[in-house]
Amino acid sequence: MTPQSGAKSTEGAVLSLKIGPAILGPETFLRLLSDLVQGLCHFPLWVEGLVFLLLEAERILLYYKTIKGTILAGKSTGFPQWVQWIHHDEGKTHCEICLKLDGCYFTEDRHPPCPHHPFCHCTLEPIDDAIVRMNAVAKSDYRKFDPYLFNTPGTYTHNKEKLFAQWGYTVEDAAWLQAEIERQGLEKYLTGDYQLGKLNHNGQRITIRISLTRRDTGEAVSFDTGWMVYPNGWLQLSTPYGGK
Ligand SMILES: [Zn+2]
Ligand SMILES: [Zn+2]
Repeated sequence: MTPQSGAKSTEGAVLSLKIGPAILGPETFLRLLSDLVQGLCHFPLWVEGLVFLLLEAERILLYYKTIKGTILAGKSTGFPQWVQWIHHDEGKTHCEICLKLDGCYFTEDRHPPCPHHPFCHCTLEPIDDAIVRMNAVAKSDYRKFDPYLFNTPGTYTHNKEKLFAQWGYTVEDAAWLQAEIERQGLEKYLTGDYQLGKLNHNGQRITIRISLTRRDTGEAVSFDTGWMVYPNGWLQLSTPYGGK
């Protein structure tokens, strides 16, 4: 290295170092590093430059770690990304359907189409998985099981009680079945394991598959349950047995 080229490179390094304090891209970082190596003969600048580059290297590393961490956190936990339907009051006629959806949680890949119609002002806002987990509940009315599902008074002619009887369940299991369906319903909703059903002025329905064990053979059986989605992660069971 001739003194001339060394002096030139040092000058280059001085100019480049004045760029800070923004986060440098890897290319700029490498260029600065090469300037610095070429300018080794100029000791005080070299020390100053080295300190600067070390700090910058740390920042770049932290920056990429954060990005990588965010991506990995979203993937490795297996939790879905959530959005909340937000209806924006524009002082105009309120649409009944959008008002029903207002505040409801859906996964990013399974929500009613938004905007829902021309001039719909609704938006889907990202919401933290932790908030969804904290607020979500799955509720059901005991009467959906007794008398309805088990046809206790014999007035319902749906034959669903025969299916449950075949599987070894009786009205004695109504309270257990209710709790079990609520448990699985919530768990599956939280993992995004649901299907969108009918949406109308009553709101958005979703279907969740429930698995049980036959009491006689121990064999696994599964069936669909129907739920209505309410704001802030509230699910209400509408159909305890919606078909196989
Ligand atoms: Zn609307
Ligand atoms: Zn709308």
